[in-house]
Amino acid sequence: MPPLIRALLRDMAPYTATDAGNAVDLSDNTSLWGPPPAALDAVRALDASALTRYPPTPPAGLNAALATYAGVPVNMVVAGCGSDDLIDCAMRTFAEPGDTIAFASPTFSMVPVFAAINGLRTHAIPYGPELDIDVDALLAPRPRLIYLCSPNNPTGSALPSATIERIVANATGVVILDEAYGEFTSTPGFSLVAHSERLVVTRTLSKAFGLAGLRIGYAVLAPSLARALETVRGPYKLNAAAVAAAVAASTDGLPWVRQHAMEAATNRDRVAERLVALGLPPMPSQANFVCVPCRQASRVAERLLARGLALRVLRQLPPVTPALAASGGAALRITIGPWPLMEQLIALLQAEGATCE
Ligand code: PMP
Repeated sequence: MPPLIRALLRDMAPYTATDAGNAVDLSDNTSLWGPPPAALDAVRALDASALTRYPPTPPAGLNAALATYAGVPVNMVVAGCGSDDLIDCAMRTFAEPGDTIAFASPTFSMVPVFAAINGLRTHAIPYGPELDIDVDALLAPRPRLIYLCSPNNPTGSALPSATIERIVANATGVVILDEAYGEFTSTPGFSLVAHSERLVVTRTLSKAFGLAGLRIGYAVLAPSLARALETVRGPYKLNAAAVAAAVAASTDGLPWVRQHAMEAATNRDRVAERLVALGLPPMPSQANFVCVPCRQASRVAERLLARGLALRVLRQLPPVTPALAASGGAALRITIGPWPLMEQLIALLQAEGATCE
């Protein structure tokens, strides 16, 4: 009898998120300012037919709004059920099973999982000590796909545009550039889209746009690639409430989104200074979170959870920086939010005598 489940899945488990319970959730880099009011209004204004009918396919209004935001023609946008969906679909669209996907590690934890399920081999190179990428090592196996994440989860580090440009110029296949945290950088524009046929930039409305619960992500890519990605993604991946909220958030809600993304970036830099003063120095971040290498990450997180704040504990990160080597690969990842909440975080860390020794 053939097995009922693919052999590959025997050693894999479903993704589980941190259970924040009643705590304030600083564990998943979602917005702590809530959704844009315009998006909430749009969901409230849905009528009954939006629930009984299939959502618009393709979601023309949404694609147009996102294209305007990204500064590209509408035939360069493909939206999906979170950027997870598009990264997963891109692997099936732009590589054959058995092909290689290259990336620098540590990075977004779902990438090796999606790669394995899509039958791809992985070529993972370690980030350099300055969180730089050894471009020659990345390109060495002439991978069919390259995944870059900037700012990177979980380090928060952003890649210089010269590095991205060099990788794209020398790649043999498609380069996926995950800009889930792109709104929080000092240059929040879209990297290089419209300049390269082989570049696929993915973005999300789960972070700066405050809509993680509705699951909306999108890719910006050359029109011919967009058609193929749309075919693989399939119909009806975006529900009616998601479409309504996303259109509102990326049009009328945009000033609200931009203002809060800027506030997150300012608070991030202030939190970083306070963490340094506490002896818990974070890695330099361009995202809406900071990553603090910390041998005692589990203990610190447990104590803060007991006091009402949930942080993400990362374990077994590759020791690519001296601080990560010293922490044995353990780290805390902390989402940045409104300043009063950040003051509460700092005060709790101080009161608990949090230490990474
Ligand atoms: N890319 C990165 C780097 C992420 O951190 C996340 C979410 N944690 C995603 C993609 C996926 O986000 P979503 O599916 O909510 O768009």
